[in-house]
Amino acid sequence: MANKKREMTMKKNLSLPKQILLALVLGVIVGFICDQAGIPQLTTNYLKPFGTIFVNLLKFIVVPVVLLSMIEGILSMGDMKKVGSIGWKTVAFFLCTTAVACVIGLVLGNIFNGAGWFPTLELTEGVTWDKATSANFMDTLVSMFPSNMWESFTKANMLQVIVIALFLGGSMLAAGEKAKLCKDFVSSAYSVIEQLMSFIIKLSPIGVFTMIAWVVATQGAEILGSLALVLLCAYIAYAIHAIFVYSFAARAFAGLSPVKFFKGAFSAMIFAFTSTSSAATLPVSKECAHELGADDEVASFVLPLGATINMDGTAIYQCVATIFLASCCGMQLTLGQMVTVVVTATLASIGTAGVSGAGMIMLAMVLTAMGIPVDMIMIIYGVDRLFDMGRTCLNVTGDISGTLCVSAWERKKAAKAGK
Ligand code: ASP
Repeated sequence: MANKKREMTMKKNLSLPKQILLALVLGVIVGFICDQAGIPQLTTNYLKPFGTIFVNLLKFIVVPVVLLSMIEGILSMGDMKKVGSIGWKTVAFFLCTTAVACVIGLVLGNIFNGAGWFPTLELTEGVTWDKATSANFMDTLVSMFPSNMWESFTKANMLQVIVIALFLGGSMLAAGEKAKLCKDFVSSAYSVIEQLMSFIIKLSPIGVFTMIAWVVATQGAEILGSLALVLLCAYIAYAIHAIFVYSFAARAFAGLSPVKFFKGAFSAMIFAFTSTSSAATLPVSKECAHELGADDEVASFVLPLGATINMDGTAIYQCVATIFLASCCGMQLTLGQMVTVVVTATLASIGTAGVSGAGMIMLAMVLTAMGIPVDMIMIIYGVDRLFDMGRTCLNVTGDISGTLCVSAWERKKAAKAGK
């Protein structure tokens, strides 16, 4: 009896990151067994639906979280000058790290390609996919400004939701006392959403277990075989970027050791890895950033922005995939073309929505700029989820690292001003 009680307390005390890790390991084991036993449909029919329910729950709070969290962040900063100061630092951090990500992706892609490690594959027949609708900078810019606020919410167009939050938050600040009711409403509604988020986050081990079991069971060994080296190339690039750029930035600017940084960001990383959606991971990222010591007002602003425009994993994937697909159609990219890849992959990653599979659709933009037939995407279509798991994990790590750095810079600025 006493033993049982102790066991139950231990279970209760298992922290969320540990629960998530356990769920991940169990999921891999169950998925592997189902794959080997030739019953992957078991995971599709009985496990994935629970993962889908969980991801749906997260998706359904994404719009209110981004909207309210950004307005709350702007209001707590008190004046638009501070919003501007945090805003430009955030965007500068995101742009610089994305450009570095592209370079890492290109260098590794070229090394693998030069060594002849990329397979030359034929197009897979009979697969259809959505093409990117917007392929240039001006289109992306125009599409950021909504003509109908409700449509932005219902379609979960996150760039538009961010613009709406900036306008509404800024206007509430400008309206001063008269906006008191609106300000109180935002802070009250945000408290409710926060409660809801923490409830949903508690369910995350179930989401992680069911999703990873399904991925392992259905994406078995055969599909991995031919594209294993392309995947390996992308994952090495993801790891280099996470270790050398993000943890270095967190160390240099926020004074966190790499171990502390990755330990603190772990829950969000695993969650992103299994859910393949930066937007859906937002609530977990917020918890992690808070635990790592980021200012809440900065996190409220930087994380939703990052989950929408900061996609370094996506940029790396697009660079590696471009080199691979170019080599599949017998093209060798020149240095000038590689510069174009950096620019277009940076823009494409900014335009990529923080949802599953979006990066592959935006890859069309990069391929078009390179003159590579867009249909070539079908070659990697089947394993896109495996690329997506790693790239989303990196995207979210970047958002947390950016939040910590901007927090540290703002603290330093405030300390200087206080002197
Ligand atoms: N799934 C990624 C994310 O949510 C986007 C992508 O497909 O690259 O961050």
